Amino acid sequence: MNHDHSHALFTRAQSLLPGGVNSPVRAFKSVGGEPFFVERADGPYLFDVDGNRYIDYVGSWGPMVVGHNHPQVREAVRLAIDNGLSFGTPTPAEVTMAETITRLVPSCEMVRMVNSGTEATLSAIRLARGATGRNRIVKFEGCYHGHGDSFLVKAGSGMLTLGVPTSPGVPAGLSELTLTLSYNDFDAASRLFEEAGDDIAALIIEPVVGNANCLPPREGYLQHLRQLCTQYGALLIFDEVMTGFRVALGGAQARYGVTPDLTTFGKIIGGGMPVGAYGGRRDLMQQIAPAGPIYQAGTLSGNPVAMAAGLAMLELVQAPGFHDRLEAASNTLCDGLQAAAAEAGVALTTTRVGGMFGLFFTDQQVDTYAQAVACDTAAFNRFFHAMLERGVYLAPSAFEAGFMSSAHDAAVIEQTIAIAREAFAVVAK
Ligand code: PLP
Repeated sequence: MNHDHSHALFTRAQSLLPGGVNSPVRAFKSVGGEPFFVERADGPYLFDVDGNRYIDYVGSWGPMVVGHNHPQVREAVRLAIDNGLSFGTPTPAEVTMAETITRLVPSCEMVRMVNSGTEATLSAIRLARGATGRNRIVKFEGCYHGHGDSFLVKAGSGMLTLGVPTSPGVPAGLSELTLTLSYNDFDAASRLFEEAGDDIAALIIEPVVGNANCLPPREGYLQHLRQLCTQYGALLIFDEVMTGFRVALGGAQARYGVTPDLTTFGKIIGGGMPVGAYGGRRDLMQQIAPAGPIYQAGTLSGNPVAMAAGLAMLELVQAPGFHDRLEAASNTLCDGLQAAAAEAGVALTTTRVGGMFGLFFTDQQVDTYAQAVACDTAAFNRFFHAMLERGVYLAPSAFEAGFMSSAHDAAVIEQTIAIAREAFAVVAK
């Protein structure tokens, strides 16, 4: 594969953009090498500036659940653009969007549109703090909730010790308010709430972790967290920025039958445009300005073009059987990859939840962050490059979930598995 044009662009970009990119994981630092620059995308494919085609399992990091450049989404955007790009006034599409989200995700009795997943999560914890009058929040090791200060925190030496910033620029005084738990550890959550439950405003979780590869919840785990939050008067926030409309039409909360107090969204609800949202119980959402005193605002929030793209996307995912087909595709891919890995003598474990999947280079079952971190990342990196050279783009990090789309048909998946056979042989060498 020739990458001359990508290389030239990356060279220019590096002197102008920090790391040559506008979001860190795009720079390929974790897998090594250089990113390719994309010119266009269609269905399951990305096409780079050197004319190379890739089968894409990143899907713009989640939004592209119906494949790239879907004609219905494109047409909705074109029609919206004809009317103007932004008005700074209420628009009809915002009302339709709110009706759609509250219908598909009934725990959201009201919603507020924002412009990214990060905005959604940091607004949700402000609401939780404002509504409960408490300051502490709980998050999970390996979960990512965007780049808000309160989330760029890791655990101190003990469970109840003060959180420590993971980035310069995050004030220690703020990170101290974030407590960190191990995902899927029932007892740790119980102990933490016993010790500090009365101070906790909210517990925020990716109900299926998609930012530490792909970790499904253990049976009853989300219910356990729901029970603890209810008992101690803390709010349960499901960060469904990734899982929303992907692991089931109603998100992880529908799939696992657990009702959070607040939910955050992003990715799919924007159809590829910059959109986020948070929603939840009416009595909580009524506390957001201007209905209530907790402030949150946005010049471009509810933007008409973004709403049009998101509504078109949400229309498509409501097709009967959409999520069953998506899950079947994830299963076919993961079963095929496991068989190909076994043929090559490479240890591989996979996880799948609806349109998300995880590839772990280990022979162990994986459902905790510690287990995910213990996998053979060097083997993943070799696999990543062997796939990329052969025209399959996986997330450029061993700690990101894979994303299936409805455009990945049987032939595309079969081709992916055939390419993986060669890639596993490279890994095995
Ligand atoms: N929450 C989750 C679960 C995410 O995966 C992400 C981004 O990947 C975010 C929040 C932040 O969203 P954004 O990148 O749109 O700010």
